[in-house]
Amino acid sequence: MSGPILTIDLEKLKANAERITGICGKRSVSVTGVTKVCCGMPPVARALLEGGVTSLGESRMENIYRLRASGVTSPVMLLRIPPLSAVEEIVTNVDVSLNSELSVIQALSSAALERGLIHKIILMVDLGDLREGIWPGDLLNVVSRVVDMPGVKIAGIGTNLTCYGGVLPSVENMGALAGWADQLEGKFSLDLEWVSGGNSSAIPLLLKGKMPSRINNLRIGEAIMLGRETAYGEALTGFSRNVFSLNAELIEIKTKPSLPIGDTGMDAFGGKPFFTDKGELLRGILNVGREDVAVDGLIPEEPNLSILGASSDHLLVDLTAVTSVPEVGDRISFSLNYGALLAAMTSSYVLKQPVFPGGVISSPRSVSIFGKLSSHGRKCLRRAVEDLDLNIVKSEKVDLGRFTPLLAGRRPLLTSALADMETRSESLGLIMIDSTPSLGLSGKLPLGRRLLSTSLGLIDPEINFSQRLSPENIVLLGVKKADPDEASLIRKLNIKTFTMEDVDLLGIREVTMRSIRRAASGTGGIILRFSRRAAGPQGLTSREFHFMLEILAGSDTIRCLDISGYPMDSEICQFVETALGKKILGR
Ligand SMILES: *Cc1c(COP(=O)(O)O)cnc(C)c1O
Repeated sequence: MSGPILTIDLEKLKANAERITGICGKRSVSVTGVTKVCCGMPPVARALLEGGVTSLGESRMENIYRLRASGVTSPVMLLRIPPLSAVEEIVTNVDVSLNSELSVIQALSSAALERGLIHKIILMVDLGDLREGIWPGDLLNVVSRVVDMPGVKIAGIGTNLTCYGGVLPSVENMGALAGWADQLEGKFSLDLEWVSGGNSSAIPLLLKGKMPSRINNLRIGEAIMLGRETAYGEALTGFSRNVFSLNAELIEIKTKPSLPIGDTGMDAFGGKPFFTDKGELLRGILNVGREDVAVDGLIPEEPNLSILGASSDHLLVDLTAVTSVPEVGDRISFSLNYGALLAAMTSSYVLKQPVFPGGVISSPRSVSIFGKLSSHGRKCLRRAVEDLDLNIVKSEKVDLGRFTPLLAGRRPLLTSALADMETRSESLGLIMIDSTPSLGLSGKLPLGRRLLSTSLGLIDPEINFSQRLSPENIVLLGVKKADPDEASLIRKLNIKTFTMEDVDLLGIREVTMRSIRRAASGTGGIILRFSRRAAGPQGLTSREFHFMLEILAGSDTIRCLDISGYPMDSEICQFVETALGKKILGR
Protein backbone atom coordinates (compact mmCIF):
# COMPACT_ATOMS: atom_id res chain seq x y z
CA MET A 1 0.00 0.00 0.00
CA SER A 2 1.26 3.44 -0.80
CA GLY A 3 -0.39 5.60 1.85
CA PRO A 4 0.45 5.96 5.53
CA ILE A 5 0.18 2.74 7.54
CA LEU A 6 -0.48 2.40 11.23
CA THR A 7 0.78 -0.95 12.48
CA ILE A 8 -0.69 -2.49 15.60
CA ASP A 9 1.13 -5.26 17.43
CA LEU A 10 -1.76 -7.23 18.89
CA GLU A 11 0.49 -9.56 20.90
CA LYS A 12 2.13 -6.63 22.68
CA LEU A 13 -1.26 -5.05 23.21
CA LYS A 14 -2.56 -8.21 24.80
CA ALA A 15 0.57 -8.43 26.97
CA ASN A 16 0.00 -4.86 28.19
CA ALA A 17 -3.61 -5.73 29.03
CA GLU A 18 -2.43 -8.85 30.89
CA ARG A 19 0.05 -6.76 32.82
CA ILE A 20 -2.47 -4.17 33.99
CA THR A 21 -5.16 -6.74 34.80
CA GLY A 22 -2.50 -8.61 36.80
CA ILE A 23 -1.53 -5.50 38.78
CA CYS A 24 -5.15 -4.55 39.39
CA GLY A 25 -6.31 -8.12 40.02
CA LYS A 26 -3.90 -8.46 42.97
CA ARG A 27 -5.72 -5.56 44.59
CA SER A 28 -9.19 -6.85 43.65
CA VAL A 29 -9.66 -4.08 41.09
CA SER A 30 -11.34 -5.00 37.81
CA VAL A 31 -10.23 -3.34 34.59
CA THR A 32 -12.57 -1.83 32.02
CA GLY A 33 -10.47 -1.73 28.85
CA VAL A 34 -11.03 1.59 27.07
CA THR A 35 -10.96 1.28 23.29
CA LYS A 36 -12.07 4.81 22.40
CA VAL A 37 -8.67 5.96 21.12
CA CYS A 38 -8.90 3.10 18.61
CA CYS A 39 -12.48 3.97 17.62
CA GLY A 40 -13.73 0.63 18.94
CA MET A 41 -11.58 -1.31 16.51
CA PRO A 42 -12.63 -4.95 16.95
CA PRO A 43 -9.17 -6.67 16.90
CA VAL A 44 -7.97 -4.19 19.54
CA ALA A 45 -10.98 -4.96 21.72
CA ARG A 46 -10.37 -8.69 21.34
CA ALA A 47 -6.73 -8.34 22.35
CA LEU A 48 -7.79 -6.44 25.48
CA LEU A 49 -10.36 -9.10 26.35
CA GLU A 50 -7.81 -11.85 25.86
CA GLY A 51 -5.57 -9.88 28.20
CA GLY A 52 -8.17 -10.16 30.94
CA VAL A 53 -10.22 -6.96 30.94
CA THR A 54 -13.73 -7.77 32.12
CA SER A 55 -15.59 -5.08 30.21
CA LEU A 56 -14.95 -2.52 27.50
CA GLY A 57 -15.27 1.24 27.84
CA GLU A 58 -16.32 3.35 24.87
CA SER A 59 -17.34 6.96 24.56
CA ARG A 60 -19.32 6.79 21.30
CA MET A 61 -22.32 4.77 20.19
CA GLU A 62 -20.84 4.35 16.69
CA ASN A 63 -17.91 2.53 18.22
CA ILE A 64 -20.16 0.35 20.34
CA TYR A 65 -22.13 -0.65 17.23
CA ARG A 66 -18.85 -1.40 15.52
CA LEU A 67 -17.86 -3.77 18.33
CA ARG A 68 -21.22 -5.48 18.37
CA ALA A 69 -21.29 -5.89 14.59
CA SER A 70 -17.98 -7.74 14.86
CA GLY A 71 -19.29 -10.23 17.35
CA VAL A 72 -17.79 -8.67 20.50
CA THR A 73 -20.29 -9.63 23.20
CA SER A 74 -18.56 -8.55 26.43
CA PRO A 75 -20.24 -5.92 28.64
CA VAL A 76 -19.77 -2.39 27.33
CA MET A 77 -19.65 0.74 29.48
CA LEU A 78 -20.58 4.06 27.89
CA LEU A 79 -17.98 6.50 29.21
CA ARG A 80 -19.22 9.82 27.94
CA ILE A 81 -22.30 10.94 29.85
CA PRO A 82 -25.31 10.42 27.54
CA PRO A 83 -27.07 13.11 25.57
CA LEU A 84 -30.79 13.39 26.26
CA SER A 85 -31.47 12.74 22.59
CA ALA A 86 -29.90 9.27 22.59
CA VAL A 87 -31.48 7.55 25.58
CA GLU A 88 -33.40 4.96 23.52
CA GLU A 89 -30.35 3.62 21.73
CA ILE A 90 -28.37 3.63 24.96
CA VAL A 91 -30.78 1.51 27.00
CA THR A 92 -31.03 -1.02 24.19
CA ASN A 93 -27.33 -1.26 23.34
CA VAL A 94 -25.24 -0.42 26.39
CA ASP A 95 -24.77 -2.51 29.54
CA VAL A 96 -23.89 0.32 31.90
CA SER A 97 -23.54 4.09 31.40
CA LEU A 98 -21.84 6.85 33.38
CA ASN A 99 -24.27 9.62 34.38
CA SER A 100 -24.52 12.93 36.18
CA GLU A 101 -27.75 14.64 35.06
CA LEU A 102 -31.13 13.93 36.69
CA SER A 103 -33.15 14.76 33.58
CA VAL A 104 -31.11 12.33 31.50
CA ILE A 105 -31.35 9.59 34.10
CA GLN A 106 -35.11 10.15 34.22
CA ALA A 107 -35.28 9.80 30.42
CA LEU A 108 -33.10 6.67 30.50
CA SER A 109 -35.45 5.21 33.10
CA SER A 110 -38.56 5.91 31.01
CA ALA A 111 -36.95 4.58 27.83
CA ALA A 112 -35.84 1.41 29.60
CA LEU A 113 -39.21 0.91 31.23
CA GLU A 114 -41.04 1.22 27.91
CA ARG A 115 -38.92 -1.65 26.63
CA GLY A 116 -39.22 -3.78 29.72
CA LEU A 117 -35.56 -3.21 30.64
CA ILE A 118 -33.66 -1.97 33.64
CA HIS A 119 -30.66 0.13 32.67
CA LYS A 120 -27.59 0.10 34.91
CA ILE A 121 -25.95 3.42 35.69
CA ILE A 122 -22.83 4.58 37.46
CA LEU A 123 -23.24 7.99 39.07
CA MET A 124 -20.23 10.18 38.46
CA VAL A 125 -19.04 12.39 41.31
CA ASP A 126 -16.90 15.44 40.53
CA LEU A 127 -14.02 15.40 43.01
CA GLY A 128 -12.45 18.57 41.70
CA ASP A 129 -11.32 17.98 38.10
CA LEU A 130 -14.34 20.00 36.90
CA ARG A 131 -15.32 17.83 33.96
CA GLU A 132 -18.41 15.62 34.37
CA GLY A 133 -19.88 14.65 37.71
CA ILE A 134 -22.41 15.45 40.41
CA TRP A 135 -21.10 18.00 42.89
CA PRO A 136 -20.56 16.10 46.18
CA GLY A 137 -22.95 18.35 48.10
CA ASP A 138 -25.79 17.36 45.75
CA LEU A 139 -25.10 13.64 45.73
CA LEU A 140 -27.49 12.53 48.46
CA ASN A 141 -30.30 14.56 46.94
CA VAL A 142 -29.69 13.12 43.45
CA VAL A 143 -29.51 9.56 44.72
CA SER A 144 -32.72 9.99 46.71
CA ARG A 145 -34.46 10.94 43.46
CA VAL A 146 -32.85 8.23 41.32
CA VAL A 147 -33.71 5.36 43.65
CA ASP A 148 -37.37 6.08 42.87
CA MET A 149 -36.87 5.69 39.10
CA PRO A 150 -37.91 2.14 38.25
CA GLY A 151 -36.13 1.84 34.88
CA VAL A 152 -32.62 2.43 36.19
CA LYS A 153 -30.46 0.70 38.76
CA ILE A 154 -27.59 2.49 40.49
CA ALA A 155 -24.89 -0.09 39.87
CA GLY A 156 -22.08 2.04 41.18
CA ILE A 157 -20.39 5.38 41.61
CA GLY A 158 -17.30 6.69 39.91
CA THR A 159 -15.12 9.66 39.31
CA ASN A 160 -12.87 10.96 36.58
CA LEU A 161 -9.70 12.92 37.29
CA THR A 162 -6.67 14.32 35.45
CA CYS A 163 -8.70 15.16 32.35
CA TYR A 164 -9.71 18.82 32.45
CA GLY A 165 -8.29 20.16 35.71
CA GLY A 166 -5.25 17.91 35.83
CA VAL A 167 -6.23 16.93 39.39
CA LEU A 168 -4.22 13.92 40.58
CA PRO A 169 -5.80 10.92 42.27
CA SER A 170 -4.87 11.04 45.95
CA VAL A 171 -5.55 9.24 49.21
CA GLU A 172 -7.95 12.10 50.00
CA ASN A 173 -10.09 12.19 46.85
CA MET A 174 -10.12 8.39 46.42
CA GLY A 175 -10.92 8.11 50.12
CA ALA A 176 -13.80 10.52 49.58
CA LEU A 177 -15.18 8.34 46.77
CA ALA A 178 -14.89 5.25 48.97
CA GLY A 179 -16.62 7.15 51.77
CA TRP A 180 -19.50 8.11 49.48
CA ALA A 181 -19.88 4.46 48.44
CA ASP A 182 -20.22 3.40 52.08
CA GLN A 183 -22.60 6.22 52.88
CA LEU A 184 -24.89 5.57 49.90
CA GLU A 185 -25.04 1.85 50.61
CA GLY A 186 -25.96 2.55 54.24
CA LYS A 187 -28.48 5.34 53.63
CA PHE A 188 -30.30 3.90 50.60
CA SER A 189 -29.63 0.18 51.14
CA LEU A 190 -27.88 0.01 47.78
CA ASP A 191 -25.48 -2.70 46.76
CA LEU A 192 -22.84 -1.01 44.64
CA GLU A 193 -21.23 -3.35 42.14
CA TRP A 194 -18.82 -0.68 40.88
CA VAL A 195 -16.73 1.86 42.69
CA SER A 196 -14.83 3.11 39.68
CA GLY A 197 -11.85 5.18 40.73
CA GLY A 198 -10.64 6.58 37.44
CA ASN A 199 -8.40 6.15 34.43
CA SER A 200 -4.71 5.58 33.67
CA SER A 201 -3.79 8.42 36.02
CA ALA A 202 -4.85 6.25 39.00
CA ILE A 203 -2.12 3.68 38.38
CA PRO A 204 0.72 5.35 40.36
CA LEU A 205 -1.45 5.55 43.49
CA LEU A 206 -2.44 1.93 42.99
CA LEU A 207 1.19 0.84 42.54
CA LYS A 208 2.16 2.64 45.75
CA GLY A 209 -0.46 0.55 47.55
CA LYS A 210 -2.36 3.66 48.60
CA MET A 211 -5.62 3.06 46.75
CA PRO A 212 -8.46 2.58 49.25
CA SER A 213 -9.69 -1.01 49.12
CA ARG A 214 -13.25 0.12 48.40
CA ILE A 215 -12.18 1.18 44.87
CA ASN A 216 -12.85 -1.95 42.81
CA ASN A 217 -12.68 -0.78 39.18
CA LEU A 218 -10.50 1.34 36.92
CA ARG A 219 -11.22 2.37 33.33
CA ILE A 220 -7.90 2.04 31.55
CA GLY A 221 -7.06 3.13 28.01
CA GLU A 222 -3.74 4.88 27.54
CA ALA A 223 -1.72 2.63 29.88
CA ILE A 224 -2.66 -0.41 27.81
CA MET A 225 -2.22 1.28 24.44
CA LEU A 226 0.94 3.30 25.09
CA GLY A 227 2.41 1.71 28.22
CA ARG A 228 2.39 4.81 30.40
CA GLU A 229 0.42 6.24 33.28
CA THR A 230 -1.13 9.65 32.84
CA ALA A 231 -0.62 11.29 36.24
CA TYR A 232 3.05 12.09 35.58
CA GLY A 233 3.39 10.63 32.07
CA GLU A 234 5.93 8.03 33.16
CA ALA A 235 6.57 4.78 31.31
CA LEU A 236 5.22 1.78 33.19
CA THR A 237 7.76 -0.97 33.83
CA GLY A 238 7.05 -4.21 32.04
CA PHE A 239 4.75 -2.58 29.48
CA SER A 240 5.45 -2.30 25.76
CA ARG A 241 5.60 1.28 24.61
CA ASN A 242 5.59 0.46 20.92
CA VAL A 243 2.31 -1.31 20.27
CA PHE A 244 1.56 1.26 17.57
CA SER A 245 3.81 2.61 14.88
CA LEU A 246 3.05 4.86 11.91
CA ASN A 247 5.04 4.66 8.70
CA ALA A 248 4.93 6.58 5.43
CA GLU A 249 6.88 6.67 2.21
CA LEU A 250 9.64 9.07 1.22
CA ILE A 251 8.51 10.89 -1.92
CA GLU A 252 11.33 13.43 -2.18
CA ILE A 253 14.89 13.71 -0.84
CA LYS A 254 16.90 16.80 -1.70
CA THR A 255 19.58 19.01 -0.27
CA LYS A 256 18.05 22.45 0.25
CA PRO A 257 18.70 25.41 2.54
CA SER A 258 17.10 25.66 5.98
CA LEU A 259 15.82 29.20 5.31
CA PRO A 260 13.04 29.88 2.78
CA ILE A 261 14.00 32.27 0.03
CA GLY A 262 11.97 35.45 -0.52
CA ASP A 263 9.65 37.50 1.68
CA THR A 264 7.59 35.22 3.94
CA GLY A 265 3.91 35.58 4.75
CA MET A 266 1.68 32.93 6.26
CA ASP A 267 2.14 29.15 6.11
CA ALA A 268 -0.63 26.83 4.86
CA PHE A 269 -2.38 26.99 8.25
CA GLY A 270 -2.35 30.75 8.69
CA GLY A 271 0.56 30.69 11.13
CA LYS A 272 3.67 32.83 10.87
CA PRO A 273 6.56 30.44 10.30
CA PHE A 274 9.88 30.96 12.04
CA PHE A 275 13.17 29.47 10.87
CA THR A 276 16.72 29.27 12.13
CA ASP A 277 19.60 29.05 9.71
CA LYS A 278 21.28 25.66 10.01
CA GLY A 279 22.82 25.82 6.56
CA GLU A 280 22.04 23.22 3.93
CA LEU A 281 19.95 20.25 5.03
CA LEU A 282 19.20 16.88 3.52
CA ARG A 283 15.44 17.22 3.48
CA GLY A 284 12.93 14.45 2.96
CA ILE A 285 9.21 14.60 2.25
CA LEU A 286 6.87 11.81 3.38
CA ASN A 287 3.40 11.18 2.03
CA VAL A 288 1.65 11.78 5.34
CA GLY A 289 0.27 15.03 6.74
CA ARG A 290 -2.22 16.74 8.98
CA GLU A 291 -5.11 15.04 7.21
CA ASP A 292 -3.79 11.72 8.50
CA VAL A 293 -2.32 12.39 11.90
CA ALA A 294 -1.54 15.02 14.55
CA VAL A 295 2.03 15.58 13.42
CA ASP A 296 3.15 17.21 16.67
CA GLY A 297 2.61 13.87 18.36
CA LEU A 298 4.91 11.88 16.08
CA ILE A 299 8.26 10.72 17.43
CA PRO A 300 10.75 9.43 14.82
CA GLU A 301 11.95 5.90 15.59
CA GLU A 302 15.31 6.86 14.05
CA PRO A 303 16.84 9.12 16.73
CA ASN A 304 18.91 11.21 14.29
CA LEU A 305 15.93 12.14 12.18
CA SER A 306 13.87 15.19 13.09
CA ILE A 307 10.60 16.64 11.91
CA LEU A 308 10.80 20.05 10.23
CA GLY A 309 7.10 20.66 9.71
CA ALA A 310 3.99 19.52 7.94
CA SER A 311 1.11 20.60 5.76
CA SER A 312 -2.12 18.72 5.00
CA ASP A 313 -0.44 16.02 2.93
CA HIS A 314 3.33 16.41 3.43
CA LEU A 315 5.62 15.75 6.35
CA LEU A 316 9.04 17.38 6.05
CA VAL A 317 11.93 15.68 7.80
CA ASP A 318 15.60 16.49 8.30
CA LEU A 319 17.77 13.55 7.25
CA THR A 320 21.11 15.36 7.55
CA ALA A 321 22.30 13.49 10.65
CA VAL A 322 20.91 10.07 9.70
CA THR A 323 23.77 7.57 9.31
CA SER A 324 22.34 5.24 6.70
CA VAL A 325 20.54 7.62 4.40
CA PRO A 326 17.21 6.29 3.11
CA GLU A 327 16.10 6.52 -0.51
CA VAL A 328 12.96 7.70 -2.20
CA GLY A 329 10.48 4.85 -1.82
CA ASP A 330 11.73 3.79 1.63
CA ARG A 331 9.34 3.99 4.53
CA ILE A 332 10.06 5.93 7.73
CA SER A 333 8.48 4.93 11.05
CA PHE A 334 7.27 6.97 13.99
CA SER A 335 5.86 6.20 17.38
CA LEU A 336 2.84 8.20 18.44
CA ASN A 337 1.52 9.99 21.50
CA TYR A 338 -2.15 9.77 22.47
CA GLY A 339 -3.26 12.67 20.27
CA ALA A 340 -1.43 11.38 17.22
CA LEU A 341 -2.79 7.88 17.76
CA LEU A 342 -6.32 9.23 18.05
CA ALA A 343 -5.97 11.21 14.83
CA ALA A 344 -4.38 8.34 12.89
CA MET A 345 -7.10 5.98 14.06
CA THR A 346 -9.80 8.45 13.06
CA SER A 347 -8.37 9.22 9.63
CA SER A 348 -9.78 7.06 6.86
CA TYR A 349 -6.59 7.69 4.86
CA VAL A 350 -4.46 5.67 7.25
CA LEU A 351 -4.42 1.91 6.76
CA LYS A 352 -4.58 0.09 10.08
CA GLN A 353 -2.47 -3.02 9.84
CA PRO A 354 -2.15 -5.50 12.69
CA VAL A 355 1.18 -7.27 12.84
CA PHE A 356 1.36 -10.86 13.95
CA PRO A 357 4.26 -12.86 15.38
CA GLY A 358 4.92 -14.31 11.94
CA GLY A 359 5.30 -10.88 10.41
CA VAL A 360 3.16 -9.15 7.87
CA ILE A 361 1.74 -10.76 4.78
CA SER A 362 4.00 -11.22 1.80
CA SER A 363 3.66 -12.82 -1.59
CA PRO A 364 2.59 -16.45 -1.63
CA ARG A 365 5.12 -19.25 -1.82
CA SER A 366 2.75 -22.13 -2.26
CA VAL A 367 -0.79 -22.80 -3.32
CA SER A 368 -2.86 -25.34 -1.50
CA ILE A 369 -5.87 -26.93 -3.04
CA PHE A 370 -8.67 -27.37 -0.65
CA GLY A 371 -11.52 -29.67 -1.54
CA LYS A 372 -11.94 -31.56 -4.78
CA LEU A 373 -10.77 -30.16 -8.07
CA SER A 374 -11.63 -31.87 -11.33
CA SER A 375 -8.66 -33.33 -13.18
CA HIS A 376 -9.15 -30.69 -15.84
CA GLY A 377 -9.14 -28.00 -13.15
CA ARG A 378 -6.00 -29.45 -11.66
CA LYS A 379 -4.28 -29.37 -15.02
CA CYS A 380 -5.33 -25.76 -15.53
CA LEU A 381 -4.02 -24.82 -12.14
CA ARG A 382 -0.72 -26.61 -12.68
CA ARG A 383 -0.26 -24.58 -15.83
CA ALA A 384 -1.26 -21.43 -13.99
CA VAL A 385 1.35 -21.72 -11.27
CA GLU A 386 4.10 -23.16 -13.45
CA ASP A 387 5.60 -19.79 -14.25
CA LEU A 388 5.17 -18.51 -10.76
CA ASP A 389 7.58 -20.70 -8.83
CA LEU A 390 4.82 -21.92 -6.58
CA ASN A 391 4.31 -25.40 -5.19
CA ILE A 392 0.91 -26.98 -5.25
CA VAL A 393 0.03 -28.91 -2.12
CA LYS A 394 -3.20 -30.61 -1.27
CA SER A 395 -4.69 -29.75 2.10
CA GLU A 396 -7.52 -31.34 4.02
CA LYS A 397 -7.92 -28.75 6.69
CA VAL A 398 -7.79 -25.09 5.80
CA ASP A 399 -4.62 -23.85 7.37
CA LEU A 400 -4.11 -20.25 6.45
CA GLY A 401 -0.74 -20.78 8.05
CA ARG A 402 1.36 -17.96 6.88
CA PHE A 403 0.66 -16.47 3.50
CA THR A 404 -0.45 -19.49 1.57
CA PRO A 405 -3.29 -18.74 -0.75
CA LEU A 406 -5.77 -21.51 -0.95
CA LEU A 407 -8.00 -22.33 -3.80
CA ALA A 408 -11.05 -24.45 -3.56
CA GLY A 409 -12.79 -27.25 -5.24
CA ARG A 410 -16.47 -27.77 -4.66
CA ARG A 411 -16.62 -27.24 -0.89
CA PRO A 412 -17.20 -23.60 0.05
CA LEU A 413 -13.82 -22.38 1.11
CA LEU A 414 -15.05 -19.18 2.71
CA THR A 415 -16.88 -20.89 5.55
CA SER A 416 -14.26 -23.61 5.93
CA ALA A 417 -11.46 -21.07 6.09
CA LEU A 418 -13.28 -19.11 8.75
CA ALA A 419 -14.15 -22.24 10.72
CA ASP A 420 -10.61 -23.60 10.71
CA MET A 421 -8.81 -20.38 11.53
CA GLU A 422 -6.39 -21.07 14.35
CA THR A 423 -5.44 -17.78 15.93
CA ARG A 424 -8.06 -16.34 18.18
CA SER A 425 -7.65 -12.63 17.88
CA GLU A 426 -7.01 -12.65 14.18
CA SER A 427 -9.71 -11.66 11.75
CA LEU A 428 -9.87 -11.50 7.97
CA GLY A 429 -11.44 -9.23 5.45
CA LEU A 430 -13.40 -10.35 2.41
CA ILE A 431 -13.59 -9.01 -1.11
CA MET A 432 -16.30 -10.75 -3.01
CA ILE A 433 -16.41 -10.08 -6.72
CA ASP A 434 -19.78 -11.30 -7.84
CA SER A 435 -22.93 -10.11 -9.55
CA THR A 436 -25.13 -10.68 -6.49
CA PRO A 437 -24.51 -10.09 -2.78
CA SER A 438 -25.04 -13.70 -1.62
CA LEU A 439 -27.02 -12.40 1.34
CA GLY A 440 -30.17 -14.45 0.85
CA LEU A 441 -31.98 -15.24 4.07
CA SER A 442 -33.66 -18.52 3.28
CA GLY A 443 -31.80 -21.71 4.15
CA LYS A 444 -33.38 -23.28 1.07
CA LEU A 445 -31.44 -21.14 -1.38
CA PRO A 446 -28.39 -22.67 -3.07
CA LEU A 447 -25.26 -21.94 -1.04
CA GLY A 448 -23.91 -19.51 -3.64
CA ARG A 449 -26.88 -17.21 -2.97
CA ARG A 450 -26.50 -17.27 0.81
CA LEU A 451 -22.82 -17.81 1.47
CA LEU A 452 -22.30 -14.44 3.11
CA SER A 453 -25.50 -14.46 5.16
CA THR A 454 -24.58 -17.96 6.34
CA SER A 455 -21.07 -16.86 7.34
CA LEU A 456 -22.49 -13.96 9.34
CA GLY A 457 -24.84 -16.19 11.33
CA LEU A 458 -28.01 -14.82 9.76
CA ILE A 459 -29.36 -18.21 8.74
CA ASP A 460 -28.23 -20.70 11.34
CA PRO A 461 -27.12 -19.09 14.62
CA GLU A 462 -24.91 -22.12 15.24
CA ILE A 463 -22.74 -21.04 12.33
CA ASN A 464 -21.55 -17.51 12.92
CA PHE A 465 -18.14 -16.22 11.92
CA SER A 466 -18.75 -12.52 12.51
CA GLN A 467 -15.94 -12.52 15.11
CA ARG A 468 -13.49 -13.43 12.38
CA LEU A 469 -15.13 -11.61 9.53
CA SER A 470 -16.54 -8.24 10.51
CA PRO A 471 -19.12 -6.64 8.22
CA GLU A 472 -16.90 -3.55 8.29
CA ASN A 473 -14.22 -5.56 6.45
CA ILE A 474 -16.51 -7.02 3.79
CA VAL A 475 -16.58 -5.52 0.32
CA LEU A 476 -18.94 -6.55 -2.44
CA LEU A 477 -17.66 -5.62 -5.84
CA GLY A 478 -19.33 -5.72 -9.22
CA VAL A 479 -22.86 -6.16 -7.94
CA LYS A 480 -25.40 -6.06 -10.77
CA LYS A 481 -28.57 -6.90 -8.87
CA ALA A 482 -29.73 -7.36 -5.27
CA ASP A 483 -33.05 -8.46 -3.76
CA PRO A 484 -34.78 -5.85 -1.54
CA ASP A 485 -33.91 -7.98 1.52
CA GLU A 486 -30.30 -8.08 0.49
CA ALA A 487 -30.21 -4.34 -0.17
CA SER A 488 -31.60 -3.57 3.26
CA LEU A 489 -29.10 -5.94 4.90
CA ILE A 490 -26.25 -4.21 3.11
CA ARG A 491 -27.46 -0.90 4.53
CA LYS A 492 -28.10 -2.25 8.00
CA LEU A 493 -24.74 -4.02 8.33
CA ASN A 494 -22.94 -1.19 6.55
CA ILE A 495 -21.29 -3.54 4.06
CA LYS A 496 -19.28 -1.61 1.51
CA THR A 497 -20.71 -2.34 -1.91
CA PHE A 498 -19.45 -1.20 -5.27
CA THR A 499 -22.09 -1.72 -7.90
CA MET A 500 -21.29 -1.65 -11.61
CA GLU A 501 -22.48 1.96 -11.54
CA ASP A 502 -19.76 2.78 -8.98
CA VAL A 503 -17.20 0.99 -11.12
CA ASP A 504 -18.25 3.16 -14.07
CA LEU A 505 -18.14 6.35 -12.03
CA LEU A 506 -14.93 5.80 -10.10
CA GLY A 507 -12.98 3.56 -12.39
CA ILE A 508 -11.74 0.09 -11.63
CA ARG A 509 -8.46 1.19 -10.07
CA GLU A 510 -10.05 3.48 -7.52
CA VAL A 511 -12.73 0.96 -6.66
CA THR A 512 -10.13 -1.76 -6.13
CA MET A 513 -7.87 0.44 -3.99
CA ARG A 514 -10.82 1.46 -1.82
CA SER A 515 -11.87 -2.16 -1.52
CA ILE A 516 -8.44 -3.26 -0.34
CA ARG A 517 -8.26 -0.47 2.20
CA ARG A 518 -11.66 -1.37 3.59
CA ALA A 519 -11.18 -5.12 3.66
CA ALA A 520 -7.60 -5.10 4.92
CA SER A 521 -8.01 -2.46 7.60
CA GLY A 522 -7.41 -4.04 10.97
CA THR A 523 -7.36 -7.59 9.64
CA GLY A 524 -4.72 -10.21 9.03
CA GLY A 525 -5.40 -10.20 5.31
CA ILE A 526 -8.11 -10.71 2.76
CA ILE A 527 -10.08 -13.63 1.48
CA LEU A 528 -10.68 -13.00 -2.20
CA ARG A 529 -13.67 -14.76 -3.66
CA PHE A 530 -14.60 -14.24 -7.24
CA SER A 531 -17.13 -15.50 -9.66
CA ARG A 532 -17.19 -15.19 -13.38
CA ARG A 533 -20.80 -14.02 -13.03
CA ALA A 534 -19.41 -10.55 -12.30
CA ALA A 535 -18.02 -10.46 -15.81
CA GLY A 536 -19.98 -10.42 -19.05
CA PRO A 537 -22.82 -8.20 -20.30
CA GLN A 538 -23.52 -5.26 -17.98
CA GLY A 539 -20.68 -6.52 -15.85
CA LEU A 540 -16.91 -6.21 -15.68
CA THR A 541 -15.02 -6.64 -18.89
CA SER A 542 -12.40 -9.32 -18.95
CA ARG A 543 -9.71 -6.65 -19.02
CA GLU A 544 -11.20 -4.88 -15.99
CA PHE A 545 -11.35 -8.18 -14.17
CA HIS A 546 -7.68 -8.84 -14.81
CA PHE A 547 -6.64 -5.31 -13.89
CA MET A 548 -8.51 -5.58 -10.63
CA LEU A 549 -6.85 -8.90 -9.80
CA GLU A 550 -3.44 -7.46 -10.70
CA ILE A 551 -3.91 -4.64 -8.21
CA LEU A 552 -5.10 -7.10 -5.59
CA ALA A 553 -2.11 -9.37 -6.19
CA GLY A 554 0.24 -6.40 -5.91
CA SER A 555 -1.26 -5.32 -2.60
CA ASP A 556 0.24 -8.35 -0.79
CA THR A 557 -2.89 -8.68 1.29
CA ILE A 558 -4.49 -11.81 -0.17
CA ARG A 559 -4.42 -14.79 2.16
CA CYS A 560 -6.91 -16.99 0.47
CA LEU A 561 -8.45 -17.34 -2.96
CA ASP A 562 -11.88 -18.86 -3.04
CA ILE A 563 -13.26 -19.97 -6.37
CA SER A 564 -15.33 -22.80 -4.97
CA GLY A 565 -18.53 -23.71 -6.70
CA TYR A 566 -17.33 -22.71 -10.15
CA PRO A 567 -15.81 -24.97 -12.72
CA MET A 568 -12.10 -24.37 -13.19
CA ASP A 569 -12.06 -23.62 -16.89
CA SER A 570 -9.33 -21.89 -18.83
CA GLU A 571 -10.76 -18.41 -18.31
CA ILE A 572 -10.99 -18.86 -14.54
CA CYS A 573 -7.48 -20.26 -14.67
CA GLN A 574 -6.23 -17.09 -16.26
CA PHE A 575 -7.94 -15.06 -13.56
CA VAL A 576 -6.27 -17.25 -10.93
CA GLU A 577 -2.86 -16.72 -12.52
CA THR A 578 -3.36 -12.98 -12.37
CA ALA A 579 -4.63 -13.09 -8.79
CA LEU A 580 -1.50 -15.04 -7.81
CA GLY A 581 0.70 -12.34 -9.23
CA LYS A 582 1.44 -13.32 -12.81
CA LYS A 583 2.23 -10.36 -15.01
CA ILE A 584 2.48 -10.17 -18.77
CA LEU A 585 6.21 -9.53 -18.57
CA GLY A 586 6.81 -11.91 -15.72
CA ARG A 587 7.32 -11.06 -12.06
C1 LIG B 1 -11.21 8.17 28.22
C2 LIG B 1 -11.76 7.83 29.53
C3 LIG B 1 -11.10 6.91 30.35
C4 LIG B 1 -9.79 6.26 29.95
O1 LIG B 1 -8.74 7.17 30.12
P1 LIG B 1 -7.19 6.75 29.88
O2 LIG B 1 -6.42 7.91 30.34
O3 LIG B 1 -7.05 6.49 28.43
O4 LIG B 1 -6.94 5.54 30.69
C5 LIG B 1 -11.69 6.59 31.55
N1 LIG B 1 -12.85 7.16 31.95
C6 LIG B 1 -13.50 8.07 31.20
C7 LIG B 1 -14.77 8.66 31.69
C8 LIG B 1 -12.98 8.44 29.97
O5 LIG B 1 -13.62 9.34 29.22
